[in-house]
Amino acid sequence: MKKLLLLIYFLSQNLMANDLPDLGSYTDSIVSDVEEDKIAKQILYQVNQSPIVVRDVEIDDYLTGLGRRLMTGTSIAHRNIEFFILNDSTINAFAMLGGVIGVHTGLFLAANTESQLASVLGHEIAHLSQKHLPRIIAKQQRDSYKSYLALAFALLLSRSNPELASATQTIASASAIQNTLDFTRKHEKEADREGLKILDRAGFDVRASIEFFKTMQKGNQFSGGTAPAFLRTHPITSDRISDIQDRLSEYPYKQRIDSDYFYYVKGKIKAFLEEEKTIITILERNIKNKTYINEAGERFGLAYAYLRNNMILKARSELEYIKKEKTPNAMLLNLEAIILVQEGKQKEATQLYKKGLLMFPNHRAFVYGLAEHYIRSSKITIAIDLLQDYLLIYPKDPNLYELMAKAQAVKGKVLLQHENLAEAFYYRYNIREAISLLDLAARAQDGNFYEKSRVESRLKELKKEWEQFSKGL
Ligand SMILES: [Zn+2]
Repeated sequence: MKKLLLLIYFLSQNLMANDLPDLGSYTDSIVSDVEEDKIAKQILYQVNQSPIVVRDVEIDDYLTGLGRRLMTGTSIAHRNIEFFILNDSTINAFAMLGGVIGVHTGLFLAANTESQLASVLGHEIAHLSQKHLPRIIAKQQRDSYKSYLALAFALLLSRSNPELASATQTIASASAIQNTLDFTRKHEKEADREGLKILDRAGFDVRASIEFFKTMQKGNQFSGGTAPAFLRTHPITSDRISDIQDRLSEYPYKQRIDSDYFYYVKGKIKAFLEEEKTIITILERNIKNKTYINEAGERFGLAYAYLRNNMILKARSELEYIKKEKTPNAMLLNLEAIILVQEGKQKEATQLYKKGLLMFPNHRAFVYGLAEHYIRSSKITIAIDLLQDYLLIYPKDPNLYELMAKAQAVKGKVLLQHENLAEAFYYRYNIREAISLLDLAARAQDGNFYEKSRVESRLKELKKEWEQFSKGL
């Protein structure tokens, strides 16, 4: 890690001298939206390369949904803020320049209520809506901005430098540079106050923020007793706590019942945390001793843990237990469909996926499950029709393109396979790889005139974007 930072430092010194464009215009206007957008794309590229990023559409959509709900009514409601989750047991969340918010799984697990989780997200959103990061950069006379630029450059160069390439493949470098941008006490207070407004507007319990600060201060089993990383980047002073406490009196008491989704997401995160046998032992013990916050959520996690270990009967019995207690929601139906597939009841699984889509048309896990089933059972035309329909609704979903590429490959369509795979890479912010795949698509022998010209024009478009992107940082 140190080595990498050193490398970036030297790189930045070098680049500052030679290659960086004049940054003069940013002294007054802080950081332009275009520049922020470029930085966001670099960060997201790195995020997508990271082995510790959680790639679960249900967990992802839950976080993004919660984030968007909190953003409503803020000055950044119109912006395309990207949320992602890292499989890291430390309690942390961070907002980055360019409108990217990262959350550790440790934060999810430490939050006992949805309002507690929302209070940290609200605080991070407030840092963005108050433009704290660009302000710090303006104040520090662009030094920190240079760090961001250096990181972006390091990533671009990493393709020709294997040592750097492996080092930059973890998100750690981005958050390390993030740490050089320290929020001031004034920023923290501002984010706290704005955060309370955000929480209240979205219907959450504002008092959760104080509760959660206290939980974090105590440290807990997930952080090994040390102070959570969140407290290092956003130090909690007694001054801050009393400021929040003063303001709480402005808000009426709000009783809030958490959604089942919150507990199911927590359960699912737990199920994939550790080696499967270990996690089964832990969750079974929690259920036996009733040491859980929410029983259905704990059992939901256990069902997934059983599935990981091919214990299908046991997974089914957890599901049946939950079904007796809870009304069906999208995540519960999806779990049932997955269990049905494992039980070999493919027909019932397909029916359930279809029913799920009718009830919850935005739940993409159903689409993925259904498409995979059609591809597996060689119903390629049906798979392609389904994916085409959903690509109209989600034209930026890399998973849909990846599935489409799979379907086209089974059909033996070389141009279409590479074209779709290119889009999957593009929407994971890897423009370079997208260009190579489009090159392959353009050289394929099986495209018709219309397909070939579509690939050619997309290739031109991406090459132009890449050129602007790599020179304009
Ligand atoms: Zn903060």
